Amino acid sequence: MSAGDPQAGPAGAGAGGATSAATPVAAPAVDLYAGVVGQPTALAQLRAAAVAPVHAHLFVGPAGSGRLAAARAFAAALLCPAGGDGTCRSCRLALAGEHPDVVTFEPEGAFLRVTDATEITRLSLRSPVEGDRKVLILTEIERIQQAGPALLKTIEEPPPSTVFVLLAEHVPPELVTIASRCARVDFGPVPVEVLADRLVAEGVDPAAAALAAAGAGGSLPRARLLATDPGVEGRRRAWSAIPARLDGTGATVATIVDELAALIEDAAAPLATRQRAELEAAAERDAAGGGRAGARRDVEARHRRELRRHRTEELRSGMGALVRRYRDALERDPGGSGAAAALRAAAAVQSAAEALPRSPNEALLLQALFLRLPPLPGSGGSGDDW
Ligand SMILES: [Zn+2]
Repeated sequence: MSAGDPQAGPAGAGAGGATSAATPVAAPAVDLYAGVVGQPTALAQLRAAAVAPVHAHLFVGPAGSGRLAAARAFAAALLCPAGGDGTCRSCRLALAGEHPDVVTFEPEGAFLRVTDATEITRLSLRSPVEGDRKVLILTEIERIQQAGPALLKTIEEPPPSTVFVLLAEHVPPELVTIASRCARVDFGPVPVEVLADRLVAEGVDPAAAALAAAGAGGSLPRARLLATDPGVEGRRRAWSAIPARLDGTGATVATIVDELAALIEDAAAPLATRQRAELEAAAERDAAGGGRAGARRDVEARHRRELRRHRTEELRSGMGALVRRYRDALERDPGGSGAAAALRAAAAVQSAAEALPRSPNEALLLQALFLRLPPLPGSGGSGDDW
């Protein structure tokens, strides 16, 4: 089989023609992959693979690169009786993440537990509800850790009706063996121009779109959020100004951390608005009898994760501004007396940013960091970019 070949091309093309019950659709009425931007290579691979999928596909790429939207579109293509027209009930439910035969598993804890592996195996063995195939999407599979061996056999040899789609930001050593059993599709950060064009197409003013795209780190959801967020520049300034405010006291540090927490909370307002709209839409689909049982609960759980991710991204963006503040100081006076301290400070902020996802208490992490940082004279409000 062609699993494991990153260029799996028209996967299994030799065997593909056998299932001819569904007549091929000439031109889909709606592009299933319209929600994915800036990934032409990945989408070409997926369109080819949808004709004859293997048992497991692995999508690797950074957060916000469109892997989940692509996975849902791929699932829609696999389940649609018309080969992925994008308009039928099956397609619409799959794209909305509410098809009874498209199950998304997201680990609740920081890492996949063995109980998670057991649950995934159970889900994979369950028969499809509606048709003869089902798709099991496993998100954040890079957090697999010790659950790897427990999942290997399940992913290697699922029932013929089950297709796995695994999403990972990267492939850590614990995932290498499983990855070798999957057809791999790589996603990259969405290019800044592509993000900006998409925002403009969605009605964002070009100047605001350019600013949001530049600060989004290759993520479409984050670009959308920044485009609707008038506070972006103010928050960057607040972080840049921190070194000028530090005076070595815990009281000042505590004040700064409180202020940042309030800013981040305000920044989540556009996300909260979007989530409310999504919940209302899910409730309407529930009322219309379309969605899977528990779909609403899943939406709520996803919203909590989105909020957590939003906080992490805000903190990372802010810490990025802080690092730049120290590097700027260093560039202005490379041989100065504070140069070594500024260099150490930049490194300390960087490693705090890396520790962020594992930190149980962000406020304590920030307080400890700010107490270690040397003050810098002058304002941090220079007009440097994100
Ligand atoms: Zn369809």
